[in-house]
Amino acid sequence: MARSYTLHSTATTPTGLDFSAELNHEQLAAVTSPGGPALVIAGAGSGKTRTLTFRVAWLLEQGIPAGSILLLTFTNKAAREMTGRVHDLLPGRADGLWSGTFHSIGNRILRRHAEAVGFRQGFSIMDREDAEELIATVVTRSGIVSTDKRFPKPGVLADIFSLAVNTGAPVSKILSRKYRYFIPLAEDIERMQIAYEARKKEANAMDFDDLLSKTLELLTLSPEIAEQLQFQHVLVDEYQDTNRLQSELVDRLAARHGNLMVVGDDAQSIYSWRGADCANILQFPATHPGTRVFKIETNYRSVPGVLDLANAAILPNTNQFPKNLAAIRAPHAVKPALVALPTNNLQAAFVAQRVLELVEEGMPLAEIAVLYRAHYHSMEIQMEFTRRGIPFAITSGLRFFEQAHVKDVAAFLKFAANPRDEMAFKRMIRLLPGIGNKSADALWERASEALQGENGFSRLAGFKVPPKAVKPWEQFVLTLTELAPSDAPPPRPDAMIQSALLGVYEDYMKEKFSNFEARREDLETLQTFARQFDTVEDFLSQLALLGGLDAPEQAASDQDRDKITLSSLHQAKGLEWKVVFLVWLTDGMFPSSRSIEDPAGLEEERRLFYVGITRCMDELYLTYPELRLGAGYGEAYQSPSRFLHELPDHLVEQWDVTGS
Ligand code: ATP
Ligand code: MG
Repeated sequence: MARSYTLHSTATTPTGLDFSAELNHEQLAAVTSPGGPALVIAGAGSGKTRTLTFRVAWLLEQGIPAGSILLLTFTNKAAREMTGRVHDLLPGRADGLWSGTFHSIGNRILRRHAEAVGFRQGFSIMDREDAEELIATVVTRSGIVSTDKRFPKPGVLADIFSLAVNTGAPVSKILSRKYRYFIPLAEDIERMQIAYEARKKEANAMDFDDLLSKTLELLTLSPEIAEQLQFQHVLVDEYQDTNRLQSELVDRLAARHGNLMVVGDDAQSIYSWRGADCANILQFPATHPGTRVFKIETNYRSVPGVLDLANAAILPNTNQFPKNLAAIRAPHAVKPALVALPTNNLQAAFVAQRVLELVEEGMPLAEIAVLYRAHYHSMEIQMEFTRRGIPFAITSGLRFFEQAHVKDVAAFLKFAANPRDEMAFKRMIRLLPGIGNKSADALWERASEALQGENGFSRLAGFKVPPKAVKPWEQFVLTLTELAPSDAPPPRPDAMIQSALLGVYEDYMKEKFSNFEARREDLETLQTFARQFDTVEDFLSQLALLGGLDAPEQAASDQDRDKITLSSLHQAKGLEWKVVFLVWLTDGMFPSSRSIEDPAGLEEERRLFYVGITRCMDELYLTYPELRLGAGYGEAYQSPSRFLHELPDHLVEQWDVTGS
């Protein structure tokens, strides 16, 4: 007879966490609330994110299994920090927690259930570039462009489709809201959207929006799967930036138990251009009857001088939910600084010199950030930092995983994992001599037929290719069979990278790039990064999610060194630093010239300004150049941002900077 044996849950052993010492009254009330819908709406730096992490710890302590708690947020960095904090609070007890960005959770769900929404296992994730390429193929095949020259470019189509998906509105509605001049083409554009959908299924490839919309579709189409995916508790940070799709997804995953806690600040809503809808948070109590509302009125992050400035900055917005936020911290020795510099180059020099002085005084670089409206505003500063040997990490612009050579190598792995991946196939073979777009198209036709979605890659041998490509083609096919052997389990991801490098890519790089060595080093970093993954699917998902729109992330080896952060304001939300430089505060740059004409756009820019100021704990510098110099765009006088004019003089200290 079998012995019966009971495994005791360790979950209810006391943790020694003293919740009431770590949290104020309102935070504690939210953390220990019984369940049901809950909304924490409060200003920046009031401990909303802290409340969520303690809530998770509390739930674990109550014996709720980690695997039935879902914790969502927007950026990878915020997700990583939040998950890290929970693990620190309860070492070993949070394993199995579902925690991450919306996209990463969608991916995790779809990996198990792709078939239920018309895809297959091992689907690829397309980044924006891939998606545009596929849309371009769809448009070319339809023959539309030759008849109508004003047809939107693939990038614009991608925006239109994306907005439609994220707001749950038909294309025609998006056109009448934002692209009126394309209304006459509505039917054709809708046809392209349908064709694009079909084409993605053929290629077994999802774009970023699919990771959300197909998850929602899955929950709708399959009640059984939806039932399995009911979380006992769902918690969402930065809820003010959810769009219709995201809020619906959250509601579905929380439907059975009804325990949905969302936190946010309407004054920090900065993603309406991507379909985010502030009404989600403002209407939450109405859409979720029985909601408990918690308000936190203390700011723990910033010194009073910074907080006063933040409150003054957001004041001109008419459309806001009134909040009282009082600073708890003692005043700081220096007031926020307002610094005009003669040129953008001197602005960079100023930032660099101040940074070096701060470091001299003992400030770690990791406690300092330079924030800006648009990535290109960081260029002179990047150059200046490089010149002066100040190490920096950038969370905007082209990221490590988006560089061409990284994507080239990844294409080999993608295709091995998903032989329907048209973009990956074409990307690889265009690396071979003598193969351009045309022959790539033709070869794909043949290859997709020969392979029929399976990976018997030796069937590609002997294809007719341009003369120059004959030998390389042989080598290419051989490499593919090495990546996906038909008689053995697939190699590990790092071994696959090695094969792609040795088989094809190294030769290509040597011939193509003068900075071959630097690229080779990047690819070694990629290989090291790949070592932590057992399967190629896991590795590729991670790669895609890190490279995405919401994805500030450096390769693993970069993480712990002391570096100053350069970040766009959008990527900075939820984060904090002791010292913050807000640069390029001129009209046209910030607020951006596009938003100036549009009152709603201007209010959103102002919220972004508020997000910037409220990232700062101690020392804030607001800087702008009076004259813009630069290659390509010539000299131009700048006027200080209207947001600066809106600030009362007594809240800032003007610095007169002179050269020596
Ligand atoms: P944001 O709106 O910018 O996302 P937030 O409301 O999420 O801000 P947190 O990041 O959670 O704020 O907290 C801001 C800072 O204040 C953090 O450093 C946090 O640890 C600290 N803090 C929050 N609440 C308390 C508290 N009760 N006691 C001590 N420190 C606190
Ligand atoms: Mg937060």
